[in-house]
Amino acid sequence: MRVEGVVQGVGFRPFVHGLAGRFGLGGFVGNDTGGVVLEVEGSWEAVEGFRAALEAEAPALAVIERVAAEAIEPTGEDHFVIAPSDASGPRQVLVAPDASTCGDCLRELFDPGDRRHRYPFLNCTNCGPRFTIVRDVPYDRPLTTMAGFALCRACAREYHDPADRRFHAQPVCCPACGPMLRLVDRGGEPVDGDAIAETARLLKAGRVVAVKGLGGYHLAADACSGVGVDALRARKHREDKPFAVMVADLDAAAALCELDAVEADLLSGRARPIVVLRRRNDTGLAAGVAPGNRFLGLMLPYTPLHHLLAAELARPLVLTSGNVSDEPIAFRDDDALERLGGIADCFLTHDRPIHTRTDDSVVRVARGRELPGRRSRGYVPRPLSLPWPFPRPVLACGGELKNTFCVAKRRQAFLSHHIGDLENYETLRSFTEGIAHFFRLFDVAPEVVAHDLHPEYLSTKYAMDLAGVELVGVQHHHAHIAACLADNGEAGPVIGVAFDGLGYGTDETIWGGEFLRADLVGFTRLGRLECVRMPGGTAAIREPWRMAAAYLGDTDLQVAKRNADRWDDVLQVARAGVNSPLTSSAGRLFDAVAALLGVRDAVNYEGQAAVELEQLADPAERSAYRARVDPGGAFQVRGGDLVRAAADDLAAGVDRAVIAARFHRGVAGAIVEGCVIAREVTGLPTVALSGGVFQNLLLLETAAETLEDRGFRVLTHHRVPTNDGGISLGQAAVAGARDRA
Ligand code: ZN
Ligand code: ZN
Ligand code: FE
Repeated sequence: MRVEGVVQGVGFRPFVHGLAGRFGLGGFVGNDTGGVVLEVEGSWEAVEGFRAALEAEAPALAVIERVAAEAIEPTGEDHFVIAPSDASGPRQVLVAPDASTCGDCLRELFDPGDRRHRYPFLNCTNCGPRFTIVRDVPYDRPLTTMAGFALCRACAREYHDPADRRFHAQPVCCPACGPMLRLVDRGGEPVDGDAIAETARLLKAGRVVAVKGLGGYHLAADACSGVGVDALRARKHREDKPFAVMVADLDAAAALCELDAVEADLLSGRARPIVVLRRRNDTGLAAGVAPGNRFLGLMLPYTPLHHLLAAELARPLVLTSGNVSDEPIAFRDDDALERLGGIADCFLTHDRPIHTRTDDSVVRVARGRELPGRRSRGYVPRPLSLPWPFPRPVLACGGELKNTFCVAKRRQAFLSHHIGDLENYETLRSFTEGIAHFFRLFDVAPEVVAHDLHPEYLSTKYAMDLAGVELVGVQHHHAHIAACLADNGEAGPVIGVAFDGLGYGTDETIWGGEFLRADLVGFTRLGRLECVRMPGGTAAIREPWRMAAAYLGDTDLQVAKRNADRWDDVLQVARAGVNSPLTSSAGRLFDAVAALLGVRDAVNYEGQAAVELEQLADPAERSAYRARVDPGGAFQVRGGDLVRAAADDLAAGVDRAVIAARFHRGVAGAIVEGCVIAREVTGLPTVALSGGVFQNLLLLETAAETLEDRGFRVLTHHRVPTNDGGISLGQAAVAGARDRA
């Protein structure tokens, strides 16, 4: 039998060994580059029982994609053994994602009688580091960053004992033979005392400590210490973007935020993402943790080190990525000391190298299901199974912001970890090294390479530089809708609503509020938001009030004129068309209204104005503004109507929270109206909602519910991000579909 899927590094061979024993079978099991291969020999009933149990009782972390069996001549074998790994041949094996510490390991961690008591690196076949430490396949210790740690006698015994729960657990180790924790100061000099206790003491005293985690360094501060949190913000140059908080357990999470069952499952599951939740009042958290925010990102400990720290500290801990501003997180020790030396007072670090930088994943729950915002640590590189094959292997290079890439072959797509915004050398290096790593891990040599149409994206330029491959350009919003289709395992055609920031169109304008008729092969544009100027180009992204000016133009409503002294100048710039491209972007429409309401005149992180507008909106408000729709070959939704209605309400003294809600409901109404027209034109009953703007839950849920009320079937994201972190999957799906066509 050959077993394919996530079957290495998850305790599969010991499981098979145990199963063979139970059914009294002889034979062997081994890893090779294709997954797990095994032979069993015995009575027909025993073999059949074995085969059924193989799939039914597989280990917790295993994902069986396929079992192929064939009958061969018996050899008279009555023993069952685990064979050495075979590294030759084509690689089809799947490396598992990193998994949070399991219950068995946790008990040992806090058991004073256990030889791994308080050992921050304990793990077993059911948990521990995987993707972040893998250098190459097959997944065996010498090809991981554990290669430098020789097993001690006790660990070796466990590793070789088929009855032990650490049998062939590659990262197995203990205080006698494994990585060691150290607390050092900024100069790299050791700090005296127990590293965990001392770290907790420093944090409580308002210090910032860099903590080496699974996929990189975090910066930690006591979430209840105003001094610590403010110091972290100031030194990290992070003005408003909320920090994530780690709490010890679900009870501690429920004390800070409202939790439903789906959210609790996500928080405590193996992947341990940051889950963005509705925040309670009076939590005792420092104001600087998530300024003015109705939501809070929480996560539970996912390594033994985190568990020890959380237990010692016994209060919430800010745990944010170890970087300055928008740089990628630090994951190499020397680099971390250098780059984070100006931020952290101390470093809680260790000597197990991280091979692949992997950020924390971020999810929300929408309509009772997971809505990924960032799919990275704990999820990657688990494959996304698709219902159609890729005739030739594909690389999709993704977009520019929140970049991920995607490698696809046969019926599987491997979406990469979060690479980040491709706008500096360090991120570009992660991108190119990550691609090379995925090619090795999954033994792919792509023949088809998909990319965005934007000629200036570094991901596009990377694709253009590749020799000997077929290039497939995919329009940005087509990629969003294709990503939503692939996410749901559907091929279309559908009515695609791509509401987004900015994406390169096919007509010299910048798109971002699109109604498409789309399938995986192609699309036509059925309608869009009306185009407006972006006065000053990128300046209009940084200063959303410019969008309010572009939408409102000359207005008598003085209250609406943010920055009134520059209002007319900006209008002139826009009218002259100087560095003021036309855009149908929905993101910019949200910016205009956010600016109008005084939420934001200038932003310091991407999407900030829209995020804060969502928070402002009064969930109880039921009325909505209405945007007129101009019919035509491609219909046009007059977003300006919504902005003017908001301005009128503002002048009339209506509460800003009510205005924000009426605007959200107005955008949702415009989406529904556009879809009704699109359905009349195309006869299609299904709508796919994608694009960064649908990270806004109020908009997503209002639009989806109203569409369903109007008889539409609605597809939204649940496996990959609705923002640009998901478009590489869409690009890959389009390239594959065109290859099949
Ligand atoms: Zn474990
Ligand atoms: Zn050991
Ligand atoms: Fe986008």
